[in-house]
Amino acid sequence: MTREIPYKIYLEESELPRHWYNVRAHMANKPAPLLNPATLEPMSVKDLEPVFCTELAKQELDETNPWIEIPEEIRNFYKMYRPAPLVRAYCLEKELDTPAKIYYKFEGNNTSGSHKLNSAIAQAYYAKKQGLKGVTTETGAGQWGTALSMACAYLDLDCQVYMVKVSYEQKPFRREVMRTYGAKVTPSPSMDTEVGRKINAEFPGTTGSLGCAISEAVEAATGQEGYRYVLGSVLSQVLLHQTVIGLETQTALDKYGIRPDMIIGCAGGGSNLGGLISPFVGEKLRGEADYQIIAVEPASCPSLTRGKFAYDFCDTGKVCPLAKMYTLGSGFIPSANHAGGLRYHGMSSIISQLYHDGLIEAVTVEQTAVFEAAQKFARVEGILPAPESSHAIRVAMDEAVKCRETGEEKTIVFGLTGTGYFDMVAYQKFNDGEMADYIPTDAELEKSFADMPKVGK
Ligand SMILES: *Cc1c(COP(=O)(O)O)cnc(C)c1O
Repeated sequence: MTREIPYKIYLEESELPRHWYNVRAHMANKPAPLLNPATLEPMSVKDLEPVFCTELAKQELDETNPWIEIPEEIRNFYKMYRPAPLVRAYCLEKELDTPAKIYYKFEGNNTSGSHKLNSAIAQAYYAKKQGLKGVTTETGAGQWGTALSMACAYLDLDCQVYMVKVSYEQKPFRREVMRTYGAKVTPSPSMDTEVGRKINAEFPGTTGSLGCAISEAVEAATGQEGYRYVLGSVLSQVLLHQTVIGLETQTALDKYGIRPDMIIGCAGGGSNLGGLISPFVGEKLRGEADYQIIAVEPASCPSLTRGKFAYDFCDTGKVCPLAKMYTLGSGFIPSANHAGGLRYHGMSSIISQLYHDGLIEAVTVEQTAVFEAAQKFARVEGILPAPESSHAIRVAMDEAVKCRETGEEKTIVFGLTGTGYFDMVAYQKFNDGEMADYIPTDAELEKSFADMPKVGK
């Protein structure tokens, strides 16, 4: 096979984006505002400031500026592991015997092993600039906590991480990476916070959830002088920082005159997907181009495909603002799926609005099918993918196989968000044939919907 396109498309350091792209500026239907849970009024920067850094609160509410400059210090940090390569999956194409052209944007080339570092460094930077002592956060699978620990170590900020208990137990090495970078790691729900004690009492033996770890981290931030809370997904500011993924992808594709037909990403809280697709959605919104965009979620936590589009709490303890999003209800605790990063009950309000407006599609996949794809990908492309990323691999492979059947030469781009070296317990379950698929019943979902706040619109 002649290879007119290189196996890996690398950009120059000088091609690293200088601005993040704020897709809200071009959306006709803006995401609904965050509401104060007490007054049900839209949150202002002032309302958000006790919890978030001021600059990040401003970014959270900014729906008018399409381009937000990336501070030089953050760009310099990005240069340690970016621009990230866009890879032509020649080996996978051959394996699948497909006429489709498959590309993936690889975000696993840093110690945290995922795209999360893109936002961690930005959030830590603004906290440092504001003169804070430290930050608190939650982590699911551990990637966000690891990324934040790295960013905080770099900027000499204190870092306190509440880690979802199931991951804390399944992934002791993640915990140790965080501690190596100087973070304090506590399993959640813990007995250290009021909300943690309450959840433990209500659901004895719970393995925790992101929603519940968020409540604990927020409580820890507001209870300590000089601390703020940071979140690694879901928020509009996080999607904004993650647009370096999509902007680099666009530059790399443009360099070789490649036009994707289809863009695929896994969706937990929606940050990598939002970051990858925002510049392409921008083209769609401005009428410049059209793409098929697919969000992939686990069948065990199907917020877009089976959730309700309504105002809901972002956390189990109901201390955060209300967001209008596709949600399974803040009380929904998904089964112990191995893709910890996809176990969140809700979805970014930007992604939710785009999905509601038909600009993107969503599908679910079951975890054994995901690991089959992960194993095939590892064997042919070499990279050992994270279980979360493998959701996108599964659908990219399925779409490429459809092309084999129809003969269509579609160009497929998917986000390979990270590596799976810390997910070997999950791989072990799969290799031993002990992995099960769990899909919540309608009755289970209805039960959790029933507890959602009754807010109009
Ligand atoms: C956290 C994580 C995800 C899911 O989070 P999003 O905010 O939806 O992007 C996906 N892949 C990896 C490797 C992750 O660490």
